[in-house]
Amino acid sequence: MERTLSIVKPDGVKKNLIGEVIRRFEQKGLRVAGLRLIRLSREEARNFYIVHKDRPFYDSLTTFMSEGPIVVMALEGDNAIATVRETMGATNYKDAAPGTIRADFATDIERNVVHGSDSVKSADYEIPYFFSSLDLK
Ligand code: UDP
Ligand code: MG
Repeated sequence: MERTLSIVKPDGVKKNLIGEVIRRFEQKGLRVAGLRLIRLSREEARNFYIVHKDRPFYDSLTTFMSEGPIVVMALEGDNAIATVRETMGATNYKDAAPGTIRADFATDIERNVVHGSDSVKSADYEIPYFFSSLDLK
């Protein structure tokens, strides 16, 4: 059993894709263990994506991530991290496999609808960023 953190990004919320994203994860057998609709400050977005602080897209990404509400969720299941990554598709929607969330809904390499932790180490940083252990059921 594994847990991972996923986010419906501001573009996904604007496109009314909250239900669609959760549906796809549930269909893969993942269970929602925690769920919140929030809006990040610029500072909170910058700390969430701190691993990318030296990348050229960091400023633009963190501005985008704080432009409107997002949905953060903790998902639980066997191989939850890899399952979410497969369901999302490649970072660049142009490279994303057909039928993935990003292939179906992303319009831009930055505005790619969803986030998913990329490793156990990332999940261990990202889940507690939004959920206390008491919030996960
Ligand atoms: N991103 C971007 N330009 C790039 C690479 C990434 O705007 O060249 C954005 C995109 O929104 C991506 C996020 O930064 O989802 C985090 O990048 P990462 O490489 O971690 O991709 P992910 O894990 O989300 O697939
Ligand atoms: Mg990543």
